Amino acid sequence: MTTSSTTGGAPTGADAPLLTARGVQRKFGGLVAVDVEEFHVRRGTITALIGPNGAGKSTFFNLLTGFDRADAGSWQLDGRTVTGLPAYRLAQQGMVRTFQLTRSLADLTLEENVLLAARGQRGERLAGALFGRASWRRQEADNTERARELLARFGLERMAAEPAGVLSGGQRKLLEMARALMCEPRLLLLDEPMAGVNPRLVETLLDHIRQVRADGTTILFVEHDMDVVAGISDDVVCMAFGTVLATGSPEQVMRDPEVIDAYLGSDEPDDDAATAAGTERRA
Ligand code: ADP
Ligand code: MG
Repeated sequence: MTTSSTTGGAPTGADAPLLTARGVQRKFGGLVAVDVEEFHVRRGTITALIGPNGAGKSTFFNLLTGFDRADAGSWQLDGRTVTGLPAYRLAQQGMVRTFQLTRSLADLTLEENVLLAARGQRGERLAGALFGRASWRRQEADNTERARELLARFGLERMAAEPAGVLSGGQRKLLEMARALMCEPRLLLLDEPMAGVNPRLVETLLDHIRQVRADGTTILFVEHDMDVVAGISDDVVCMAFGTVLATGSPEQVMRDPEVIDAYLGSDEPDDDAATAAGTERRA
């Protein structure tokens, strides 16, 4: 797995991108929302998917993560085709996205939320039935211990027994990360992680994201705000009108005249701009 090969045109092994996508299309009636010829996420990076409102970022993200169905295209995680797999199958392969906290999850405690993520995203485990009670109990104890460690890591341990609904917008983002990390992902996909987060908490959140990368998890996140992206990303992919306009370092992409035009040309405020500006959002 450490050798590089040019067979078939794509590198393999440690230098190969962790995620690659080709020819991905999604149409809504006559509108081509996504038309991505080529896209990749390098292993060990924080990669930002940026672009003005309506660029197709969320749609592309939803396709990759099994929440919407592509009309064309294929994508691979670590060389394995995962095109169109549902979220729980992707999680089994090591590709996990964060989820917005829904109403039902808001009624559960923080600890229950994190534990549930492990079960839900790994698929229903029948370990209890298959391997007997002792092993199942050990598994449950391990899960609980890991859930508590994760809550502690994000500074939420004192609230472990509280319903998630009491959390602020920023704390919810931290809980979402804890839930995703419960699955020990190779690739963590974050959908606008800074949206709705109090500016005071943004730096904390960014530090956590850096730490997740330092621990060996590759990160792809969607963000429309270029300033947020500049300080944290290794690679930036900019979309507009469904296509990839530019790919490169933050400096390269932000200097790109097409990228600048795309941003200047989008005078409509983004749906999330208001929340990103500091107001906290409650579900
Ligand atoms: P972004 O996340 O970059 O702001 P989206 O992926 O949400 O962009 O949207 C891309 C385009 O696809 C927009 O023109 C949007 O109106 C359209 N679109 C997104 N979802 C749907 C849908 N379910 N039905 C119809 N049009 C949609
Ligand atoms: Mg969006």
